[in-house]
Formats: sequence, structure tokens, C-alpha cells
Amino acid sequence: MPFSDLQFIKHLLKVFYEKYPDLGIDLISDIIEETLIGAPNLFFSRELVQDNSDFCVKCGYCCRELECENFNGKSCDDYENRSKVCRDYPFYEIGFETGISLDVQCNYSVKLAEMVLDKCLKVYTDLDSYEV
Ligand code: SF4
Ligand code: SF4
Repeated sequence: MPFSDLQFIKHLLKVFYEKYPDLGIDLISDIIEETLIGAPNLFFSRELVQDNSDFCVKCGYCCRELECENFNGKSCDDYENRSKVCRDYPFYEIGFETGISLDVQCNYSVKLAEMVLDKCLKVYTDLDSYEV
């Protein structure tokens, strides 16, 4: 697993173990891994990413990292004509594989992952309220 993915997962483990300590680190870790690495196509669609574009804080980190010649240090000089990959980011589609880029520097990715994982983990906290 790339180092950047590990940092991303570490951040989420910290967030959700603090939020739902009763679930235990193993269950939280399994769900994070399944959601982000195992089957991200089940959880992150292009529509979901587009519908939450307000998570992008327009920091320019993604463009800076690519050392793109259209990036002027603050914004894109060719914003209207930017490629599909740029329009979709942090969503990706490679063949049949889809998901989101796992970069802890990208607020858009982090907040999307937190939103989706919170829904997944909440199911387990709700189960705890039922007597068996
Ligand atoms: S790094 Fe993420 S939050 Fe920053 S501009 Fe790029 S998509 Fe938006
Ligand atoms: S084309 Fe524009 S949006 Fe795409 S990476 Fe370059 S500067 Fe960023």
C-alpha cells in the first residue's frame, strides 16, 4: 500500500476511533479498509463526488503536485478546457475501477471519505442499541 494511502487511513482511524471508541479499533480498521481499498466503487460514485464539490477548499494542492504548466500558483489558466481527469478529481475511473484519490492533503477527499465512513460506522453504533 502506498505511503500516502497509509497516511490517509491513519487519519481516518484516529477520527473514527475518537468518535466511536466502543466499536473497537479492529472493526473500524476493517471497515475503513474495505470502503477505501477493497471496494471503493461500491461507495464512491462520480455523482456523489460532484454533489459534494463544496468540500473542495480550492487550495491548489492537486495542481501543484502535478507540476502542471497551467497552474499559475493560485488557479488554473485553462479552467474551462481542463481535462476530464481534472474535472473529476478526486474521483478516478481506470477501466472498471473507480474510487477517490487517497490524499490526506486534499480536504475534498478527506471529507468525502469521512462522510461515507460515518454512514457505514453509524449502522454498527445503531446495532448496539438493540438488545439481543
Ligand atoms: S487538493 Fe483537493 S481540496 Fe485542494 S484544490 Fe485540489 S481537489 Fe480541491
Ligand atoms: S489543467 Fe488546470 S485543473 Fe488540471 S492540473 Fe493543470 S492547473 Fe490543475
